[in-house]
Amino acid sequence: MTSLATLLPQVLPGAIGWAQEQELKALATGAALTPQGIADARALGVLAPEKIRVVIAPALPLPDDAWLRSVALGTGLLGPGFTGLTLGYAIFIVHGHLTRRLLTHECRHVHQYEIAGSIAAFLPAYLGQIATVGYDAAPFEVDARQHEIL
Ligand SMILES: [Zn+2]
Repeated sequence: MTSLATLLPQVLPGAIGWAQEQELKALATGAALTPQGIADARALGVLAPEKIRVVIAPALPLPDDAWLRSVALGTGLLGPGFTGLTLGYAIFIVHGHLTRRLLTHECRHVHQYEIAGSIAAFLPAYLGQIATVGYDAAPFEVDARQHEIL
């Protein structure tokens, strides 16, 4: 597996641009949360849950850029094992995996983006955590798991 820590400085600009594009597309095409979803999101700290859009798709989005895509897959950031992804106010969920637990996990990531202020501010911190301590131990992931509503 390629080391994400080594590649991170080169990856970040492209990753941020890609994430911003994906968010814009999803905000135009995704579905608003249900009233229950909005109540859950508010309960776990989201300031503007009405801005969230959910896209259910056969697979999570992957960068078109071959190099960026190979880094994402090669470092285990994105790939077959993942069923949810949050980019700003956009939540992507793989078809068949929409549960209250996964949705509240992803909504907590929206809260984390809100606290950071933007995708450009959040992603370096988030990917930096994953690069140093790994996905499972990354504090943003631990925090999201602790706020899942079962
Ligand atoms: Zn997560």
